[in-house]
Formats: sequence, C-alpha cells, structure tokens
Amino acid sequence: MTPFSLTGKTALVTGANTGIGQAIAVSLSNAGAHVIAAGRRSCAETVEAMGAAEETVLDFADPMAARDVFERPIDILVNNAGIIRRNDAVDFTESDWDDVMDVNLKALFFTCQAFGRAAIGRGATGKIVNIASLLSFQGGIRVPSYTASKHGVAGLTKLLANEWAGKGINVNAIAPGYIETNNTEALRNDPDRNSAILERIPAGRWGQPSDIGETAVFLSSQAANYIHGAVLNVDGGWLAR
Ligand code: NAP
Repeated sequence: MTPFSLTGKTALVTGANTGIGQAIAVSLSNAGAHVIAAGRRSCAETVEAMGAAEETVLDFADPMAARDVFERPIDILVNNAGIIRRNDAVDFTESDWDDVMDVNLKALFFTCQAFGRAAIGRGATGKIVNIASLLSFQGGIRVPSYTASKHGVAGLTKLLANEWAGKGINVNAIAPGYIETNNTEALRNDPDRNSAILERIPAGRWGQPSDIGETAVFLSSQAANYIHGAVLNVDGGWLAR
C-alpha cells in the first residue's frame, strides 16, 4: 500500500454536491476512502461518481449543524463549504457579513470542534483539511466578510494544529487559487478579467477542482503525518509572483 492510500478510512466532505467539494470527495474515494458527501442539498451526483459512498444533509444555516455527525468513527474531515458576497466596503450589509462568517468560519470551527472532541474522546488519530483561499493572505476587493473569514480559517488551522498535533490529529488547509467552478464562472465569462487573471498565473491556466482534490488526498494520508498547521497554496504559482 502506498503512503497515499486512504483504504480503510472514512472521510466526510462538506459542500460535496458540486465544485471543489465534489472533486475532493471523488479524489478521496479514488484513493480508497469511504466518503460521506455532506451538502445542504442532494449530493446524489457526487455519490454516483464515487460508487460505494453515502450522503448526509448538513446545512450550515445552523453553524452548529455538525454537532452529532461524528458520533460514528470518521477519520478525515474536509471543511469545504463556503460562500462569498460582493459589495463596496462602504455599502456592505450586516447580513452579508454574518451569512459569510457563519458558513465560512463559525460552522468550520464548530465542525472541527465536534470532530476533535469525538476523535480525542475515542483516543483516535485523524486528519482535518480546511479550504482556505488566496484571500487568507491577500486582501481582495469588495469581499470584506470573505477575506475576514478566510484569514480566520488560516488562523484557526494553526491554532487547532497547536492544540491537537500532540494527540495525533493533523489540521492543515489548502489555499486554492483560481479554480474553474460555479463560484468563478462570472470571472471567466468576463474577457478582461479572465485575461488579467491568466496573465498573472505562472502555470498559464485556471485550476481544475481535481487539482485541489489530489492535494486533499495527500493531506489526508499518512504521507502528511508530520504536517501540522500548514496552509498549502495550490494556485499555479499565483502567490509566488
Ligand atoms: P461552489 O461551487 O459555490 O461550492 C460551494 C459549496 O459550499 C457548495 O456545495 C455549496 O452548496 C456549499 N454551501 C454553501 N452554503 C452552504 C451552507 N449553508 N451549508 C452547507 N453547504 C453550503 O464553490 P467552490 O468554488 O467549489 O468553493 C468551495 C470552497 O473553495 C469554498 O470554501 C470557497 O471559498 C473555496 N475557494 C474556491 C476558489 C475558486 O476559485 N473556486 C478559490 C479559493 C477558495 P450549494 O451548492 O447548495 O450552494
């Protein structure tokens, strides 16, 4: 068995119905994991792409929604669910602040907490992979709650790694660059934005959701046993410029 095999492991992926979450679920499944695809709506398409897998409803309209899901043993948690709202800082509304912070940061923390409590309670090891962003490092523009939430994801990843590394729980994050999903369709459809983005990416292409999926396999596997608190850029070189 290679050190990247996930055979015998159970993984839960949030926001697994589409985009990056769907690709992560499929990659983990291809690496041998039994995957629980979690979504606020049906993940049937993802489950079909995986074969032996299951789905569960997790809607972070309630940020504490995952409080009971780790009563059964789950080895790998991928916190992928996320939203974005765009507006000028001077016009940004409280609901656009709260909605984004609730899904991207509060739900992510309390889902990690539920996973960590259960694993520590069982004396089990585990792997958490949080999905951060380039806006965990850069400011962006017109996305104040998204930027604040993703900076928060990077910080929480390090805090949880510090608390749990000694208990055999690896907490890391992936910071995706510009990936082809629903989230970025408007950018790709705008010829000026599209060429400005491509011009700055050393790899010369948009990322595919599977680029993130394969990195999630690595961070979920025993090959990553000594990696704690890392936020790994998977961005075609964007942040290197
Ligand atoms: P996406 O296609 O919009 O997927 C977002 C996922 O989050 C969907 O499954 C969505 O479910 C789910 N979600 C949203 N609100 C939820 C809630 N209240 N409860 C449960 N699930 C909820 O976008 P994506 O690009 O794949 O994004 C996935 C993650 O990657 C996000 O954390 C995003 O910030 C991050 N990211 C993406 C990029 C990029 O270039 N695409 C770059 C950096 C970071 P619904 O389908 O039901 O809305």
